Amino acid sequence: MDLHPIQTPPNDAERAIVDALLGPGSPRGEATQPVRVVDAARHLLLPALHAVQARFGFISRGALGYVCRRLGVPPAEGYGVASFYALFALEKRAPVVAHICDDIACKAKGADFLATELERTFGPAGAGADRTWLRSPCLGLCEQAPAALLVAAGANPVEVAVGHASSAKVRAALDHPNAAAHAPTSIPQEGSDGLRLLRRVGVADPSSLDDYRAHGGYEALRRALDLGPAGIVREVTDAGLVGRGGAAFPTGRKWEAVAKMPIRPHYVVCNADESEPGTFKDRVLMEEDPYAVIEAMTVAGLATASEQGFLYIRGEYPLATRRLEHAIRAARARGLLGDDILGRGARFDIELRRGAGAYICGEETALFNSIEGFRGEPRNKPPFPVESGLFGKPTAVNNVETLVSVLEILRLGVVDYRAIGTSASPGTKLFCLSGSIAVPGVYEVPFGTKLDELIALAGGVVGGRRVQAVLLGGAAGTFVSGDELSMPLTFEDTRRVGATLGSGVVMVFDDTIAMLPILRRIAAFFRDESCGQCVPCRVGTVRQEELLARLERSAPHGSLEREGELLRELGQAMRDASICGLGQTASNAIESAARRLPIFEGARS
Ligand code: SF4
Repeated sequence: MDLHPIQTPPNDAERAIVDALLGPGSPRGEATQPVRVVDAARHLLLPALHAVQARFGFISRGALGYVCRRLGVPPAEGYGVASFYALFALEKRAPVVAHICDDIACKAKGADFLATELERTFGPAGAGADRTWLRSPCLGLCEQAPAALLVAAGANPVEVAVGHASSAKVRAALDHPNAAAHAPTSIPQEGSDGLRLLRRVGVADPSSLDDYRAHGGYEALRRALDLGPAGIVREVTDAGLVGRGGAAFPTGRKWEAVAKMPIRPHYVVCNADESEPGTFKDRVLMEEDPYAVIEAMTVAGLATASEQGFLYIRGEYPLATRRLEHAIRAARARGLLGDDILGRGARFDIELRRGAGAYICGEETALFNSIEGFRGEPRNKPPFPVESGLFGKPTAVNNVETLVSVLEILRLGVVDYRAIGTSASPGTKLFCLSGSIAVPGVYEVPFGTKLDELIALAGGVVGGRRVQAVLLGGAAGTFVSGDELSMPLTFEDTRRVGATLGSGVVMVFDDTIAMLPILRRIAAFFRDESCGQCVPCRVGTVRQEELLARLERSAPHGSLEREGELLRELGQAMRDASICGLGQTASNAIESAARRLPIFEGARS
């Protein structure tokens, strides 16, 4: 595609779909508002591109040019944004697409075999005039691996997750997209005693605000209104809540910093771009308890003196998106969002924004750029988001699990909350169990539960086989060996052995699984998802993947010891000199496997 989309007119259908979102344009498709106002509307670029993609299955140059003209975005920049996201197509392709996850959990469950079968039936990936298939990074459906996401463009677009995907299942979905049913959420602990974050999951109707309230919903918001901003921050701080997205930053400190900033307005952003391979806990919360996310964001708004929240959800979660959109509308209609919340004079509202297939948008500053209508590339820090975040204003960013944990703190009170877990890691934690596990799914346990106890809770290893390795914390996390399963799952215990809880991934690999292909898939993931802004990450992730490909072929450059040194050097360079967490952690899991698992033995010819 060249860089002259502005020369190409949209067709009538494209113009209509953009106008339906942005309001009527002028006959020539130019901006109808003063430039300053149009600039302020750039944050509608991503929703506009989504609307075109959903209707036509690709974004033509005419449509892209029209969107850019309407929003006052330079066409080269509009192209830069549209081409940044994996779920957008800029060339015409089949309107019905099955995205096949071939990431680590699905790879271990036969995704490559599934892809081969689909290639035999439908031809190469991306080929086919009316329906096709593509490989995809993690779809966040690891408990139902191998997984697929069916997308059918049209006047009534279809987006459906397909769990336990066989070639017959995918073929049926491609042939009859309107009849495809969304994979049911699997909730192994449904209704069990002692659940906190999952206590309504599978119990309360996620589409009913009344049912949510009947199960304790909005009690926390009432208490928050009684406590006032400083009181909420004090409770959250005293409860010892730290972020559950991976960084483990104290939530109370973050909220207090935003609340104290004199610049206005302040924003709350819910980071629901859960893209870490192996992670799907936030998806389960959003699908099954969407009002809890809305209530928790409202509490965060009160605490940080923010009147506007943005909920940024990954594009691969269509069911969660629909349920959250419904919940926001219902909460607004019942005075639980808006200008006079619960009749107490508090103001807060939420806009939902969808990502479009970019792991890096889970990085908080990349997420701001994505919402603002720019490429989802991380910013240099400082300034930190509490000072200058979304639209350059003080912003509190928290992930879904962190926010929902606040509701439990307010409901139970600090003393009872701190009685759960350990003194340094209070409360409960959601873990995503997948891989060679008998009953994969999301599990909630108190901090301090041992890794082998958690695996036993999920039915143990399939066929009673030996655990070869466990990936803790996701692709940016750490492998631990089968000899380390007595490890208590706390921030302090995992840190002590050089591991991390990360985003709560517990992916189990039994002794039948070849680990080098898994490691190479992790390396390919980071190479693919690097935004390319900085050299150590852009080049280092490529070199890391090449090295693992050599090991997989038993064709090391020089000795295996030399390859081991090179792996460490690459990891150090990326850690030291990358701008953001992606580059800084891209070698973590691979280096940990090299230290703890005999992967170099397998590479000896
Ligand atoms: Fe982009 Fe990688 Fe640099 Fe992060 S570390 S900004 S992902 S190139």
